[in-house]
Amino acid sequence: MSKIIVAIDGYSSCGKSTIAKALAKYAGYTYVDTGAMYRAIALYTLRNNLTETADIIAALPQIEVGFVLVNGAQHVTLNGEDVEGLVRTLEVGNRASQVSQIKEVRAFLVAQQQKMGDAKGIVMDGRDIGTVVFPKAELKLFLTASPEVRAQRRYDELVAKGEKPNYDEVLADVNDRDYRDTHRAESPLRQAEDAIVVDNSHMTPDEQMEVIYGLFDKILNQKS
Ligand code: C5P
Repeated sequence: MSKIIVAIDGYSSCGKSTIAKALAKYAGYTYVDTGAMYRAIALYTLRNNLTETADIIAALPQIEVGFVLVNGAQHVTLNGEDVEGLVRTLEVGNRASQVSQIKEVRAFLVAQQQKMGDAKGIVMDGRDIGTVVFPKAELKLFLTASPEVRAQRRYDELVAKGEKPNYDEVLADVNDRDYRDTHRAESPLRQAEDAIVVDNSHMTPDEQMEVIYGLFDKILNQKS
């Protein structure tokens, strides 16, 4: 059966990666979390005290971002080191949202992401997948949920990791990140014209996956 590319975009903390992982498993496709790639670059800049755009651009040739499978789970690597556990913090997320505004950083990662889609059979999530990375993806989903619902999900995740977040700060962070992601000059987060919007504020995970599996099956049937 022919394979397709699935592009999943949307705001932070609206469950993109959970959905993308589940769909990849359902389809037998490869899952790629592009946010993790921006986070790995952000970690590099934090470790090396790089704050100036020119210094970050100059460092790109020294940065290699990849993925490894650890017990079936995908972990992001930075110059060969598994940094999955280090990139999921608020600090790295905020820095990722800053470094992702740099045109050269985006070009560096977009080229790698496009290569990963050469053989199709891929589910990729991010902010610009349906608009920039794979504008011809056969299935494009744009996920959204209210800022309050997303802040609560992020808050719960941080608590589960042993952090002690403050809900109002987490909500402010969600709003700040939304603003930066949608207003940046380079590839701002926006819905592709042919994307299907899924607002999961009031859906259970099962309900949502049923809708998404249905959309995927429909596209495959149309193709075959
Ligand atoms: O999805 P995640 O929260 O891990 O992404 C971290 C940050 O990386 C986002 O806030 C966004 O600014 C940036 N990003 C991006 N383009 C992507 C994926 C992530 O700009 N394709």
